[in-house]
Amino acid sequence: MQVKVVKFGGSSLADAEHFRQVASIIKADPARRYVVPSAPGKRHKDDTKVTDMLYSCYEKIRNHENIDELYEQIKARYNGIIADLGMNFDISGELEYVKNAMMHRSGRDFAASRGEYLNGLILSKYLGYSFIDAENVIFFKENGSFDEEKTNRVLAEELMQHKNAVIPGFYGVMPNGTIKTFSRGGSDITGSIVARAAQADLYENWTDVSGFMMADPRIIEDPCAIQTITYRELRELSYMGATVLHEDAIFPVRYAGIPINIRNTNEPTAQGTMIVAETPDYDTDHVITGIAGKKGFSVITIEKDMMNSEIGFGRKVLEVLEENEISFEHLPSGVDNMSIVVATGALDGRREKILGAINRMVRPDHISIEDGLALVAVVGRAMVKAKGTAARVFDAISNADVNIRLIDQGSSEISIIVGVEESDFNTALSAIYREFVK
Ligand code: ASP
Repeated sequence: MQVKVVKFGGSSLADAEHFRQVASIIKADPARRYVVPSAPGKRHKDDTKVTDMLYSCYEKIRNHENIDELYEQIKARYNGIIADLGMNFDISGELEYVKNAMMHRSGRDFAASRGEYLNGLILSKYLGYSFIDAENVIFFKENGSFDEEKTNRVLAEELMQHKNAVIPGFYGVMPNGTIKTFSRGGSDITGSIVARAAQADLYENWTDVSGFMMADPRIIEDPCAIQTITYRELRELSYMGATVLHEDAIFPVRYAGIPINIRNTNEPTAQGTMIVAETPDYDTDHVITGIAGKKGFSVITIEKDMMNSEIGFGRKVLEVLEENEISFEHLPSGVDNMSIVVATGALDGRREKILGAINRMVRPDHISIEDGLALVAVVGRAMVKAKGTAARVFDAISNADVNIRLIDQGSSEISIIVGVEESDFNTALSAIYREFVK
C-alpha cells in the first residue's frame, strides 16, 4: 500500500473549521498515514500566529514583564479549537505546564515549539492517531546542525510501530535534551524528514495556495499555476524569492527521490504543483516554468587590459570577498572585465576595505560598485531544447523600454538571469511573462 506524509501549514489549522477540513482530507485517503502539523496560524489578515505570540511571551519573560494576558489569548486559541470541535479533551494541564516551563526560562526555541506541540496533541486526539513527540525522534548535533543519520534511523523505527501518527513540525532536540527549532516555516522540513524516514511514495504539503504560481501574484495578476517542476528549477526559483515551501525542505526528500505535492487545503480538488526529481520529457505547456526575482543587489565591476591571460586573477578577487565573509551571487565576466553580483546589504561598512583590497591584489585599470540592481530569473527545463529563448527574453525586455544591465546564463541552461534597474523590476518581469505565458 502507498504511504503518504501530509504536512499542514498554520493557516490550514487556524481554527476548528479548518481542523474539520484537514481531517476530511486525511481520512479521504488511507495512504495519508503520517501527519505533520504547524501551529495555528492567522484566521484573518490582522490575526497573530500562535508562534509569534509564543515568541512574544518569551521576550516578555526576559524583560520581567507579566505574560498572563498574552498567555490567556494563547490558551483561548487552543481551547476554542477543542470546544468548537466538540471534543472531550482537557488540555489545561499541558497549557499550565508550558507556561510554567517558559517562566522558568526553558529557552526561546522551547517557547516557540509549543505551538506545534499543542496543536499536534489536539490533532492526534481528533483523528484518533498516535502522537509521536518530535523531541524523541528529530535530533540536532552539538553544533546545532540537523542530525540526519540518527534522526532517520530512530524515526524510521518509531514510525514502523504506528499505522497512523501525528508528529508535530518545527522542532527537535539537542544532545543535552533542550528543544531546538528549525528556522521559521520549519514544519516543512519536518514533513520532508518524516517522508524520508517513512520511505513515503509522496510528501503532500498542504497550504493555502494551489501550488506554485509561474510568477509572483503581487506583480502579475492571476498568474498560471505550475503543474510540474523539478527540484532544480524550484531551487532556482525559491532562491530568487519565490516562497511557498521552506528551502531546506527539499533536501531530505530529494535524496530519497520522493516527490512533493503542494496542495491547497481550501481547494482540495485542485491538483496543485508536483515537485519531482526529473521529468523524462519536457512536458510543460510553456517553454518556461516560472519567473522570479529580487531587488537589493550591487555589482562590483573590475576591468583590466589582458585580464584573461593573467593567471590567478579571479581567485585573488574572490579571496578578498572570502576574507570579508561575503558570498557572491553571480559572476558574469568578459575578456577584460569581471563583474561580481553581491547582496547590497553584505557590503555594509565594508565597501572601502573591499575596494582597497582588490586594488592591492590585482591592480585593475578600473573598479566600481554600483547599487540598485534587481535580478530576474527566467527558469525552465524546456529551455535546454527550445532555441531562441534568450533572444525572446531580451526582446521582451527591450520592447518594454527597459535597459538590461547584466546577463547571466548558467551552464545548466535551466535559467537565464537578467539584471535591471530596481525601478524597472516589475516592468521587466511583466514583459517576460506576457511574452511566454499570456
Ligand atoms: N510555526 C512555525 C512558524 O511560524 C513553523 C511553521 O509554521 O512551519 O514559523
